[in-house]
Amino acid sequence: MTDETDRRTAETVIVGGGPAGASAAVFCARAGLDTLVFDRGRSSLKRCAHLENYLGFPGGIDVATFYELARAQMREFGAELVSDLVESVTRTDTGFRVETQQGRVVETDRLVAAAKYDADYLRPLGTQDAMFTTHEHDGESEAYFDREYPDDDGRTPIEGLYVAGPLAGVADQAIVAAGHGATVARTLIADARRDDGYWDAVADRVDWVRRAAELDDEWTDRERWREWFDGQVLDDLSREAETVDRVREAVIDEKLAAYIDDAEIERRAERGHRRLAATLDDDAIVDGLDDPTVVLDSLDDDTIRSYLDEP
Ligand SMILES: Cc1cc2nc3c(=O)[nH]c(=O)nc-3n(C[C@H](O)[C@H](O)[C@H](O)COP(=O)(O)OP(=O)(O)OC[C@H]3O[C@@H](n4cnc5c(N)ncnc54)[C@H](O)[C@@H]3O)c2cc1C
Repeated sequence: MTDETDRRTAETVIVGGGPAGASAAVFCARAGLDTLVFDRGRSSLKRCAHLENYLGFPGGIDVATFYELARAQMREFGAELVSDLVESVTRTDTGFRVETQQGRVVETDRLVAAAKYDADYLRPLGTQDAMFTTHEHDGESEAYFDREYPDDDGRTPIEGLYVAGPLAGVADQAIVAAGHGATVARTLIADARRDDGYWDAVADRVDWVRRAAELDDEWTDRERWREWFDGQVLDDLSREAETVDRVREAVIDEKLAAYIDDAEIERRAERGHRRLAATLDDDAIVDGLDDPTVVLDSLDDDTIRSYLDEP
């Protein structure tokens, strides 16, 4: 039974919290989209015995810790994670209705299918012939999701439906899936911004964090940014004044917020080390502090010691 508390809306639903979906979620949430991730069921990555080719982990990383880090990062930027299996997706007037095994019902504008082993929940969309292809296997014919259904950026012929990771035909490795998840999220974010009145020239969101020292004095002045913005969209300033003002100011806010000063850079570095240490096994950290050859050598020892002293 579904009660009212199980019904809600989200701007973006991501099916799958593996490398492809988790990466897409980080980008969507950082762009300010209300992002809900469902993650349950058959996982490719959980079959991997030890992840050794994902950049940034010199000794490799066990899959459970990798998932914990990915989940923490999604939550850090505001994505909501729900451990539930998506069973069906249908169209609504404005997007999609998602139903789960445990009776949750979510209406969403956009949906990213990012579960390598499962696309069955898309069948109720009613475009099976275009979306699934049939293969003979042991004399039986089986329908598989057609990996050529989405384009390279993950868009599909169904507006608002995107596909990420190996399900979209990219190579089968975790880091490749994560990279594609980011690409698909950028596509989705740009589409959402266009729908919100953004011009093509400013729809793409470049997710950079920049040093304030790189910001010339000229660009600390909002008027200078307004001139820049008007130059970008010059050929189409004829839209409603309210839209022009709203989008212009939002783009300038975003540009300026990307710059952080030295104190903030240091604060974030220390926080990053503490978050990483909090995920690791304390005994391994203590050993690592005494062993210059292990990965923890790259973390700041004082930060780690202060983390270990914390109750
Ligand atoms: C045996 C094996 C070993 C591997 N070893 C490596 C390796 O060493 N290095 C490497 O880079 N790659 C490895 N891979 C490949 C890697 O696992 C995949 O390329 C990568 O995980 C694909 O990411 P994904 O997010 O698309 O899918 P997945 O990793 O499968 O993640 C999808 C997620 O979606 C969830 N899900 C599924 N269905 C639903 C649903 N209906 N509703 C909600 N959630 C759902 C799953 O629980 C899962 O968490 C290995 C694969 C296998 C099979």
